[in-house]
Amino acid sequence: MSDIRSAARDHLWLHFAHVPQDGPIIMERGEGCYLWDSDGKRYLDALGGLFVTAIGHGRSDLANAASKQAETMAYFPVWGMAHAPAAELATKIAQLAPGDMDRVFFVSGGSEAVESAWKLARQYYLAKGEPQRMRVIGRKTAYHGTTLGALSITSIPPIRQPFEPMLNQLTTHVSTTDNPRAAEEIEEAILALGPETVAAVFLEPVQNSGGCFTPYEGYWQQVREICDRYGILLVSDEVICAFGRLGTWFGGQKFDYVPDMITFAKGATSGYAPLGGVITRPHIAETIRDAGELVWHGITFGGHPVSCAVALANLEAMESERIVEHAAANQDRFRAALEGVLDHPVAAELRGTGYFYAIELQKDPERGIHFEREEATELVARLKPLLVEMGMIARADGRGAPIIQYSPPLIAGPAEFDEIAQISREALDRVWKEWTA
Ligand code: PLP
Repeated sequence: MSDIRSAARDHLWLHFAHVPQDGPIIMERGEGCYLWDSDGKRYLDALGGLFVTAIGHGRSDLANAASKQAETMAYFPVWGMAHAPAAELATKIAQLAPGDMDRVFFVSGGSEAVESAWKLARQYYLAKGEPQRMRVIGRKTAYHGTTLGALSITSIPPIRQPFEPMLNQLTTHVSTTDNPRAAEEIEEAILALGPETVAAVFLEPVQNSGGCFTPYEGYWQQVREICDRYGILLVSDEVICAFGRLGTWFGGQKFDYVPDMITFAKGATSGYAPLGGVITRPHIAETIRDAGELVWHGITFGGHPVSCAVALANLEAMESERIVEHAAANQDRFRAALEGVLDHPVAAELRGTGYFYAIELQKDPERGIHFEREEATELVARLKPLLVEMGMIARADGRGAPIIQYSPPLIAGPAEFDEIAQISREALDRVWKEWTA
């Protein structure tokens, strides 16, 4: 075992994972859509690390943007003063965001963005003189982060239960968009809770957890109307979906809606530095300002100059290299490659859009027979290491039905799509052969 591997085994907490006896794989280097570990083994990064890497690995221009900013001024907070990287990045994001969204509250990542959006909603309603509005509606199986506020909006039992009751009494979860009454359920939940107690609805444009639940026609318009009818803020959690993942800059441009807030993180910097944020519409800032209030919330590293400079360089490069347009132009080709996997006996359904897809696995798709919970866990436990062994980072997951999920860098093209499909197909074949032997 290498020194680094044993150091990781002995001293490093892994997130959501046991530490393997012989230490974890040590990932060392990235270039474009590929990664290499410390033994020189190559992996196709079909998950963008963790839905993060939009522009691809190994960009010296982004590294240089970080180094230049660190040399000029490594750190200063945006608590009462500002600096050029934060101001310029906020302007750029406001330009790219849908509708009249015009102001950005920076944090360090997605969970903090979700927490901050909830707190902003709370302050908005306090400023409006509606202090009873505290409740939040989210969707079942959804993941909105792990800090305690964000975790209360998250609806994945094994991730939540050890920490309950948290803010459980304030959160309600409704169906994902595989239910054609998903929008109506939001209205029913609002009415059951009492509309005057509901502050916000948190939804992803395409729901990651459970496997890329993609909205049916008219879903977002219906949800927007419902939120407007009851004076509730619509928060589009785009920690994964923003910055090109769906073939558009934001979910609003894909599905034609303007939320009141967007939470973002991951793709903003393509992972070259940590950054998250909340984008808001004017009425939120105006209401808080007109009440003579300020936002009682701040995070030391929110709007970190180096992260903002990196995000700016990332977004400018994505614009000038037309990377979102590339994703839009190639998304059908990606879908077609994945559709090729669907003739496997357990590949039941392909869901997603843009560069964000999941294949749902069922025991007998033709007869609609799902894997039992223990079987799903077992299947995922077999698939996970196999995909890695076969040189691909993708997500085998069983939070709902078992899925294989993909979110490759937005620079990926037909060669990578075909490799993703071929490895997936072969991995399924191998697992299924052993399973049925
Ligand atoms: N919201 C959504 C939709 C996410 O997918 C995630 C993470 O994957 C988060 C929030 C939490 O982000 P982070 O892990 O950066 O805290």
